[in-house]
Amino acid sequence: MRELILVRYGEIFLKGLNRPYFLKALVGRVKDAVAPLGARVWLHDGRILISDAQDLEAAMESASKVFGVHSVCPAIEMEKDDFDAISMQAVEMMHGLKGTFKVSSRRSDKQYPKQSPEINMEIGAKILEQCPELQVDLHHPDHVMNVEIRDKAYLYVRVVMGVGGMPVGTNGKATLLLSGGIDSPVAGWMIAKRGVQISAVHFHSYPYTSDRAKEKVLDLAKILSKSCCGIRVYIVPFTEIQMAIHEKCPSDYTTLIMRRYMMRIAEKCAEKEHAGALITGESIGQVASQTMDALNATNAVVHMPVFRPVIGFDKSEITEISTKIGTYDTSILPYEDCCTVFTPRHPATHPKMETILKAEAGLDSENLIDRAMQGIEIVEV
Ligand code: ATP
Ligand code: MG
Repeated sequence: MRELILVRYGEIFLKGLNRPYFLKALVGRVKDAVAPLGARVWLHDGRILISDAQDLEAAMESASKVFGVHSVCPAIEMEKDDFDAISMQAVEMMHGLKGTFKVSSRRSDKQYPKQSPEINMEIGAKILEQCPELQVDLHHPDHVMNVEIRDKAYLYVRVVMGVGGMPVGTNGKATLLLSGGIDSPVAGWMIAKRGVQISAVHFHSYPYTSDRAKEKVLDLAKILSKSCCGIRVYIVPFTEIQMAIHEKCPSDYTTLIMRRYMMRIAEKCAEKEHAGALITGESIGQVASQTMDALNATNAVVHMPVFRPVIGFDKSEITEISTKIGTYDTSILPYEDCCTVFTPRHPATHPKMETILKAEAGLDSENLIDRAMQGIEIVEV
């Protein structure tokens, strides 16, 4: 008999013939997540199992954050032949619990001498007999004693919910424009959750933005990287471009033109990463640079699709997710972002393409972009 963790997966189940590919990726991601705890991970009979973790709770916590994991359960693995021993173990696991319960058993071993309803009834009766504070409720029980009869018997009660989604790396790559704000980390997390490996691009305007503002963004990337399996961050020096825009473009267009340069440079970084899309934290109408017209003007400079997973979310909804994924407290630290350093007082909400193109024609775009690309610092998080 031994204690281990049973990992249950969700959507991968639907994958039919491709399921082995997704499962293999998921096993790899779970392995990475629990390796620091000395744990062993393997696939057995359609289940992912974790054993030998130095700290079971910590291993469950890490595994539950892996995209593709539906839930994790601390389980007891034991020989299946001695049914009395299984019943006694079930009683022990239910001991001390209050409220209602049911026993839910599954047999993948169809040769097993008892069928599921029989297992449920016999173990249920033992629990009722020995745990006076528990009653049976088959429809809405507070606790479920799960018994799986496979090559061995697996028993578990506690279920810790995972993040869901798909294993990172099974759905291509995308590049996130990562600011220090609330929205972009959430946007990156949402796309990574669908199995996309992300890299990030951050624009900073030293000395107008401080080193601490940059550190904050790297901290955000670190938090994301736990679920995203590592993130390569491109730190792009943006001061020269911002100064040029500030000097030469109409003030109500500076934010928008700056956003267009960000997109152009981000696309070049994405190409280096062989990424197929960009990701931003834009939400319709949230600020002047995110009106429909402004979004179209920003979009027009890139060829790749731009994923904006929070486009239809209210700020409060985005904030809720950022709290859940653990980026909120870092996002609200009061360090300046390059966007806010040169913000015009009255940004254009209905920009004219003609005005934009005329303003950009006055800039030495190619050289500005080249120099920014050459100044990139890459940090592996
Ligand atoms: P966030 O909360 O993500 O900072 P925001 O509400 O402040 O978003 P904007 O400043 O208009 O909105 O930025 C819109 C999007 O542009 C951001 O979500 C992010 O994807 C990208 N972006 C903005 N500033 C930067 C930056 N300094 N570096 C990289 N990307 C940026
Ligand atoms: Mg911002």
